[in-house]
Amino acid sequence: MVRPTAAMRSLFRQWGEAMKIAFIGLGNMGAGMAANLVKAGHEVNAFDLAEAALAQAKANGCTVYSGVREVVANVDAVVSMLPNGKIVESVFEEDVIGHAPTNAILIDCSTIDVDTARAVALFAGNQGYAMVDAPVSGGIAAANGGTLTFMVGGAHDEFDLAQPILSAMGKAVIHAGTSGAGQAAKICNNMLLGASMIATCETFAMAEKLGLDLQTFYNISSKASGQNWSMTSYCPVPNVGPLSPADNDYQGGFATALMLKDLKLAMEAAQSVGADTPMGSRAAEIYQAFADGGAGGLDFSAIIRQLKG
Ligand code: NAD
Repeated sequence: MVRPTAAMRSLFRQWGEAMKIAFIGLGNMGAGMAANLVKAGHEVNAFDLAEAALAQAKANGCTVYSGVREVVANVDAVVSMLPNGKIVESVFEEDVIGHAPTNAILIDCSTIDVDTARAVALFAGNQGYAMVDAPVSGGIAAANGGTLTFMVGGAHDEFDLAQPILSAMGKAVIHAGTSGAGQAAKICNNMLLGASMIATCETFAMAEKLGLDLQTFYNISSKASGQNWSMTSYCPVPNVGPLSPADNDYQGGFATALMLKDLKLAMEAAQSVGADTPMGSRAAEIYQAFADGGAGGLDFSAIIRQLKG
C-alpha cells in the first residue's frame, strides 16, 4: 500500500477528514480537549494512568486503552496533555516513538521546559516522526469549551499537520517558531503575567492603605498608564472590574501551584540562556512563599491577600 506523503496528509486534514487520534493524559485539561476532538468527528483512542479519567473519557465518546503502546498503534496523530517534562520524555521516548506509525503527527500540549521539548522532538525526528510542542493558554473552562490558544513550536510543514487537529480544541493556533518555541512563548507570557499580577496586587494594597476608594482607583488607573490585563480583565480585588476569581473567593481560575510551576520553568529557561530576569525571579519567590503557606489551590490573584499583610 502506498503511504500518503506529509503534504497529502495535510491536505486530507484540511479537507476535514476524520482522523484516528491517540490522546494521552485525560486530567483536568485533557478530558475536555479529547471530548472536543470527539465532537469534531474524530475517532479518539484514550489512555491515562487513572481509572477515573479513563471512565470519564469513555463517557465522553473515546475508546479507552490499557497502555500507551496500545493506544498509539495505527493512529494518524498522538496528542498528549501530561504533568511535566520527565513524564513527557518517558512516555514519548519509551512508548510512543517506535510504536505509533511514523506518519502520525506527534503533538505535546503539556507545559514543560524548553530543553526537554526540543530534545524529545529531536529524538522523534531522528526516528522519522514529525513532532511539535503546542502548550496552551486558557484553563479548564477553555479546555472544556474548545477556546484554548495554542502556541506551536516546529517546522512549517509540522505546524501544517498539527493545525487542523488543534483547531478542533481551540480558538487560536499560532505558529511561534521552530521546535521549543511554543514552550518559550508560553513561559515568557506567564512570567510577565505572574510579575504583572503581583505589581497590580501590591498597588491596590498600597492604594487602600493610602485611603483611596479601590473602585475609584480602578476607574483612574484602568484609563491611565498603569492599565494592564491583570487589572482590567482579571482584577484581584473583589467587586471591582469585571467578574473574576476574586469575586468567587479566589476559587477556580488559574491555580497558584500552576503559576509557580510556570515561573520555575521560566527561571530554568532564563538561566539556560543567561537572561537577567529580576522581576520574574522575585515573582517566583513570592509565589513559592504563598504556595508554601498552603495557598497552592487558590487562584493566583489571591496573592493580594499575602501582599496586604
Ligand atoms: P492533571 O494532573 O489534571 O492531568 C494530568 C493527567 O496525566 C492525569 O490524569 C494523570 O493521571 C495523567 N498521567 C500522568 N502520568 C501519565 C502517564 N505516564 N501516562 C498516562 N497518563 C498519565 O493536570 P492538568 O491540569 O490537566 O494539566 C496538564 C498540563 O496542562 C500540565 O502540563 C499543565 O501545566 C498544563 N496546563 C494546565 C492548565 C490548568 O489550568 N489546569 C492550564 C494551562 C496548562
